[in-house]
Amino acid sequence: MKFSNLSQIQKRLFAWGMSKANAADGSAIELIDCPDYSTLAELKQGLLGSLEGKVLEIGPGAGSNLSYYPKNIDWIGVEPNLFMHQYLEQEADSQGLKKIRLSPGSAEKLPVENNSIDSVVSTHVLCSVSNIDHSLQEIKRILKPGGSFIFLEHNNLNGVKIMQLSKNNLQEKVDQVYDVIVIGGGAGGLSAGIYLQRYRLSSLIIDKGKARSFWMQELHNYLGLPPDTPGRVLLQRGKEHYGSLDGDFLNGFVEDVTDEGETFAVKVKVGRQNSIDAVFRTKYLIAASGIIDHLPPLDDMRNVYDYAGYNLHVCMVCDGYEMIDKKCGFFAGSEVAIEEMVFNLSWFTPYITIFTHGVFSVSEPLKTKLREHGYPVRETPIQQFLGKNHQMTGVELTDGTIIELETGLISMGSHYHNTYLKGINLELQGNNLVTDKMCRTSHPRIFAIGDLKVGLNQVIIAAGDGALAATAIWREIRREVGARPWLENLYNHID
Ligand SMILES: Cc1cc2nc3c(=O)[nH]c(=O)nc-3n(C[C@H](O)[C@H](O)[C@H](O)COP(=O)(O)OP(=O)(O)OC[C@H]3O[C@@H](n4cnc5c(N)ncnc54)[C@H](O)[C@@H]3O)c2cc1C
Repeated sequence: MKFSNLSQIQKRLFAWGMSKANAADGSAIELIDCPDYSTLAELKQGLLGSLEGKVLEIGPGAGSNLSYYPKNIDWIGVEPNLFMHQYLEQEADSQGLKKIRLSPGSAEKLPVENNSIDSVVSTHVLCSVSNIDHSLQEIKRILKPGGSFIFLEHNNLNGVKIMQLSKNNLQEKVDQVYDVIVIGGGAGGLSAGIYLQRYRLSSLIIDKGKARSFWMQELHNYLGLPPDTPGRVLLQRGKEHYGSLDGDFLNGFVEDVTDEGETFAVKVKVGRQNSIDAVFRTKYLIAASGIIDHLPPLDDMRNVYDYAGYNLHVCMVCDGYEMIDKKCGFFAGSEVAIEEMVFNLSWFTPYITIFTHGVFSVSEPLKTKLREHGYPVRETPIQQFLGKNHQMTGVELTDGTIIELETGLISMGSHYHNTYLKGINLELQGNNLVTDKMCRTSHPRIFAIGDLKVGLNQVIIAAGDGALAATAIWREIRREVGARPWLENLYNHID
């Protein structure tokens, strides 16, 4: 239904109805198959609760989102239904939002200048705009470089239907033996899934969400994509591609894998609230569950998340180029991290200050070596990171000292997502799985790809690994099945 088609009385009634809907309790709306948030209220809080600067919301209705914004937000509401404006003002007042501006207008013609907005928000709006392409162009026009567009929509923009398993329909699949189950739906797992489906094998990807590349705001070193492509875009496109090939996808947490001889039993916990356990069977397994970086443990971790993945990096290979000749904080988790990384980091920038966050002490010989290179060491714990709009500009220590920085590199180790394999004896190097050149582990039917295996932690490598593992499995199954005869010719005795 297009808004412009409504009569004045319908618009007035609509506004009144929407104002009543403000009282609806978002925490009573449970999300299905959403591993990161259990209710609509949690999701909105996660999306809107830490926004900063100038925010423009398209079609705010009577203001049902206003309770989720920080109180000091500079908020512009573009609401074409003028009957909504009085309700918006009342709601903003009752939520304690002082800096609000209301404007008529539409998503296709937003009443603000180019590059002037930090975040654009639209929730359940794009289904009723007249021209979605123009609307998206407008949003791009008004966003500042690096600004974000936050949307919660029920349109499937590309029309791709993913065979998404859920608590309701997974029973149909538990009796089937898949050719391959892929644990992890990041870059590696999705790439493997695409190859497997195109090889006409049956596959299921099980993913608990929050892939490492989800935190990546800009994907560097990847051929053919603009270097400012966010990781989440790559993941979304990969998931749609896999879905278009009829692959099965399940949001769930793999707890355990048992080797049954011919098959593996994969035990999965599905759902965060009222979760259920399900067991799936497969001939081959691809472990694509990756790792996750340890971050400096501060009392307020939101202060770390504000900058991690933006100019507070975790990977020198990915982002060394972005650090060239900048004042860089090196946040170390151990003396070994300093020895292994700092001198390499100087290839990109020599302006390095090392922070230990008081977690360990640096030995005298290493201190001397660092001093000889001119790299200061700060052993006092960190109070907070400083900055705004996701750009870290320095660090405040617990003694009040402020150190100005332009960028940072965290090297505090990682958590390896491989506990579900604990019952199977696999060769490891450190915590990484050892594989052959086709990504096969020491078990002939288990493959490991991406960050979980020994190698280089890069998206392009994870995607390549997916291709290798899927191809090795296809070759094996293909040989086992043998060549398909052209039966009609056999029956007709054609030479
Ligand atoms: C901030 C940041 C910036 C980066 N920048 C770049 C860059 O610019 N260029 C680049 O090439 N690389 C970059 N990387 C590295 C890149 O993200 C990784 O190399 C890549 O994501 C690895 O892919 P993967 O498929 O192995 O693992 P992931 O992408 O981490 O996917 C693994 C998936 O498995 C899921 N999982 C884990 N355990 C389970 C379980 N038990 N059950 C079900 N699912 C599970 C995880 O939740 C996750 O969704 C960056 C990483 C970070 C953190």
